[in-house]
Amino acid sequence: MPNTDNRDLGALGQGLWSEVPAAQWNDWGWQLKNRITTLAELDALMSLTDEERAGCEHANHKLALAITPYFFNLIDRSDPDCPVRKQVIPREGEMRVATEELLDPVGEEHTMPVPGLVHRYPDRVLFLITDRCASYCRYCTRSRLVSNAQEYNFHPEYERGLRYIEEHPEVRDVLLSGGDPLLLSDRKLDHILGRLRAIKHVEFIRIGSRIPVFLPQRITPELCDVLKKHGPIWMSIHVNHPRECTAELGQACERLSFAGVPLGNQSVLLRGVNDDVEVMKDLVHRLLRMRVRPYYLYQCDLITGSAHFRADVRKGLEIIQALRGHTTGYAVPQYVIDAPGGGGKVPINPEYLERITDDEVVFRNYEGRRYTYPLRSHPVPAPVAPVAPPLPAAAGTCGCRT
Ligand SMILES: *Cc1c(COP(=O)(O)O)cnc(C)c1O
Ligand code: SF4
Repeated sequence: MPNTDNRDLGALGQGLWSEVPAAQWNDWGWQLKNRITTLAELDALMSLTDEERAGCEHANHKLALAITPYFFNLIDRSDPDCPVRKQVIPREGEMRVATEELLDPVGEEHTMPVPGLVHRYPDRVLFLITDRCASYCRYCTRSRLVSNAQEYNFHPEYERGLRYIEEHPEVRDVLLSGGDPLLLSDRKLDHILGRLRAIKHVEFIRIGSRIPVFLPQRITPELCDVLKKHGPIWMSIHVNHPRECTAELGQACERLSFAGVPLGNQSVLLRGVNDDVEVMKDLVHRLLRMRVRPYYLYQCDLITGSAHFRADVRKGLEIIQALRGHTTGYAVPQYVIDAPGGGGKVPINPEYLERITDDEVVFRNYEGRRYTYPLRSHPVPAPVAPVAPPLPAAAGTCGCRT
C-alpha cells in the first residue's frame, strides 16, 4: 500500500487468533462466522465485570451481542474502562430505562411511507436495507430493529423502497443504511446500486457503514469494483476513538478511496469513550490521514438504556471549540442533535457571534479576541486633488480565497 501514512497506526495482527491461518483470518466470511455472540464465549476470552455480565444476560432481548474477532482484538481486556470495550460489550445500564428515553428516539417510524424507507427531508431518503451489522454498538439508535432482538420483526423490502424512490422525483439523494448495507453480497449491492443509478432524478447515492471499522476484510477488490462501477458512491464510516484507527482500517479506506469513494466519518459523543478534547483531536487527525473527512459528531440519541453513554452537550461544544481554528478546518465535524421525536439533525455550535445590528456584526475568533465587521458602507469623501492612477493588481490579490 503505497501512500497511506500509517506511521503510528498499529497493525493489529491476529492477536488471540494467532493460530488461525492468515487466509481464513483475512476472509470476511470467517470473521463473521467466528464472531463472539454469547456470554460463555466472552467468558472464555476475558474476565467480565459484574456490570458487563448483567448486560450480556439481557442483551438478547434488546440488541444482540456480536463482536468480530478482528474488533475484539482492539479491546484492552485488563481495563474495564477501555473505550472500545464500552462500545460493544453490553453493560447493566442498558437495562435501565429513563423517562426521557424512547424506542424510536428520532421519530423515524412516523416518516416511513414504506417499511424501511424514512422520508423526513423532502429531497432525500434513508433506505434501511438490512437489520444486520458485523458487530453491534450498544448505543445504537435503531436498536428497536437492528439485530431483530426485539419484537419489531423487520424485513427489509427493497422492491417497495425502490419503487417508492422511482415514483418520487423529489428524491435526489438516497442514503443506504440499516443495519449495515455492506453485509449484503456484492451481487445484491450491485443490483440495488444499479437500480438506483438508473433512476434519473437520483443524483446522489451514499452508504452509511461501520464495516470498515468492524470488518475491514469485507472491503475486497470485488466490492470496490461494484462501488466504482456505480460511482460516485459516497460513504460515511463510523469511528469513535483513535484506537479504532488501525493499519487495517487505513488500508480499507485506501481501497475505498482509490475506487473513487469519498469518505466521511460520523462519531457519536459517548461518555467515557470520546468525550474528551485530546481524544477527539487525535481521532480527527488520524481520520484525515486516512483520507476520511470528519462529517458529523452526534449527541447520543435518547435510545432506551443509554443514560450511561450520554455526555453533557456542553462537553460536545467544548470539543468543537477546541478544534475550530486550533486545527485544520477539514478536521472539524459538525456537532448535531438529532431532534428527539423527529425534527432532523440540528447543528449545535459554540457561540462566536456576540452582536448583530444594522450597522455591524461583532464576533470573537478562536482565541477569544473580539472583531467587528461593518454592515453599512461609509464612502470616503470625494478627494479634492486628482489621485494617481491605480497600480496594476499584484499577484495574489485577486480576492480568490484559496
Ligand atoms: C441523517 C439523515 C439523512 C441525511 O442527512 P444529511 O444531513 O444530508 O447527511 C437523511 N434522512 C434521514 C432520515 C436521516 O436521519
Ligand atoms: S453499526 Fe450502526 S446500525 Fe449497526 S449497531 Fe452500530 S450504530 Fe447500529
